[in-house]
Amino acid sequence: MKHPAIAIRQALPCVPLCPLWLKIYLALPLTVALASAAACGKGTNANASAAVKTEASAATPVSPEAAPSPAAAADNAPLPHIDSKRAFQYTREVTALGPRFMGSENHKKLERYIVDHLKGDEVEDDAFTADTVEGKFPVRNIIAKFPGTKDGIIVILGHYDTVYPLRNSGFVGANDGGSSTAILLEYANQLRGGGSGKRRDGYSVWLVWTDGEEAVKTWTDTDSVYGARHLAEKWEKDGTLKKIKALMVMDMIGDADLDIQRNTNGAPWLLDLIYTAAERLGYQSHFYAREGAIEDDHMPFVRRGVPCADVIDLDYGYNNVFWHSPQDTMDKLSPKSLQIVGDTILETIHMLDQR
Ligand SMILES: [Zn+2]
Repeated sequence: MKHPAIAIRQALPCVPLCPLWLKIYLALPLTVALASAAACGKGTNANASAAVKTEASAATPVSPEAAPSPAAAADNAPLPHIDSKRAFQYTREVTALGPRFMGSENHKKLERYIVDHLKGDEVEDDAFTADTVEGKFPVRNIIAKFPGTKDGIIVILGHYDTVYPLRNSGFVGANDGGSSTAILLEYANQLRGGGSGKRRDGYSVWLVWTDGEEAVKTWTDTDSVYGARHLAEKWEKDGTLKKIKALMVMDMIGDADLDIQRNTNGAPWLLDLIYTAAERLGYQSHFYAREGAIEDDHMPFVRRGVPCADVIDLDYGYNNVFWHSPQDTMDKLSPKSLQIVGDTILETIHMLDQR
């Protein structure tokens, strides 16, 4: 899949210069893009004053209807389907805990909730203390490992913390934090199979509930993705990174109006593979109508040469108004969106297994 807009986007002078939070520079005609560049770094979301919203506000469709890929019908294996009702129920339960920022009591409750749902699985902790501009915080990445017969690892990350600066605002992060936690729990259900300790037929799959994805003050390289940065460093030292065939991040994937952006801070072949998986399932209209460079939990791995994809819908409500706002609540989400992303990623794993 090739988007002609890529060449246009590469001409944007703003892209590498703005020290921004979740940066998204959408595929715009150059004149519009230059106008957007002037606005870089300017907060536009009154409800997220501490975590400055920095994305370009307009989006231009890359292509109205993508052409089917020849690879779309290349495999006869049955298509995967998650239990989206169950995944939605997880999202509801996680959200009902309330704000789940680092160091909070609700965060501890959620840690227990996640681990309780992984009984019988191989679970590992990556726990440490983060020294931040707001003080020290306990950080805990929770890793569930599902061993495979093939040599190599597919890693799926999803953050479970909610925004610290919004801790007293009523922000509960149904989509941002809730949906990612829940979809990973449902992946675990799908991956553990019979539970008899049998290896899956393919690569090992590791699910990681990452902690400290959100900035404690304002998004910078050092105030963001605390858990992912720690894990990337650790896995570089112990040799794990070399074994990773693909790493995919799930973030804000529950929006009822699902519109997954093609995050150009990723490996093009992996982004294309995800699109092909979506095509096989007939879900492609929810993928890649817009594209841009978004920073998220994958960045520490991207910087170390791991093939990554960030599966994110950073177009949440009109003009992304629900993002980092108390409006990020269950009524904005749909089980159908969890179904679309869940099935697509399981199919992507299946396709990776065959490579
Ligand atoms: Zn967020």
